[in-house]
Amino acid sequence: MKKMSGKIIVIVAPSGSGKSTLITRLKKEFNELVESISFTTRPKRPGENEGKHYHFITVDEFKNKIKENDFLEWAEVHSNFYGTSKKFVQDMLNSGKNILFDLDTQGTDALKKNFGDVASSIFIAPPSIEELEKRLKARGTESEQVIKRRIENAKREMLRQDDYDYKVLNNDLEEAYNQLSKLFKKILGQ
Ligand code: ADP
Ligand code: 5GP
Repeated sequence: MKKMSGKIIVIVAPSGSGKSTLITRLKKEFNELVESISFTTRPKRPGENEGKHYHFITVDEFKNKIKENDFLEWAEVHSNFYGTSKKFVQDMLNSGKNILFDLDTQGTDALKKNFGDVASSIFIAPPSIEELEKRLKARGTESEQVIKRRIENAKREMLRQDDYDYKVLNNDLEEAYNQLSKLFKKILGQ
């Protein structure tokens, strides 16, 4: 059988920019897209499920996977480890599936380096750091201290906002969604 190669779309955005909200809707519209479920050592948030949002593992398990060369890329983000399964990505691409990723700037850079034009990257920007802080506080899933760390990282990540293939501003949610939906159609050739 001829091997087909799928496409990769990477969403990169600071925590609190609205990425998960937008991705949840995109997955419904583009239901043929498979999502790369990362491994992480961060604690599960209320409402998150094993194998759906992440594979939740211990630091020892994560380190073992690094040793076994199981990750296509991995990074330490907000003091937790996150990594992408090499086998999952290879299997999906070989069977012609298109894959959606939600990664930080380091992971996005690694994928672009590895896959070149097969991978399209989209940066989702919040209207401002102040608004991002408001959204993180309103979400209420992290402690004050964790939110502070995420905001510091967001400031750094915002410096990279023009380094990716596309940028979408998430001020008005509907507008941001429509822009993203159009972009996905273009990238996927629909
Ligand atoms: P991320 O996955 O980027 O960390 P979320 O999708 O969890 O962000 O969004 C953070 C919070 O902001 C959530 O409570 C979400 O409902 C809210 N939110 C998302 N987009 C918008 C928007 N355009 N305007 C106002 N609030 C938003
Ligand atoms: P969260 O804890 O909010 O789910 O994710 C924190 C950050 O880690 C986000 O920027 C998210 O995109 C990133 N992330 C999630 N999975 C991976 C991964 O496998 N690799 C990398 N490099 N970043 C990831």
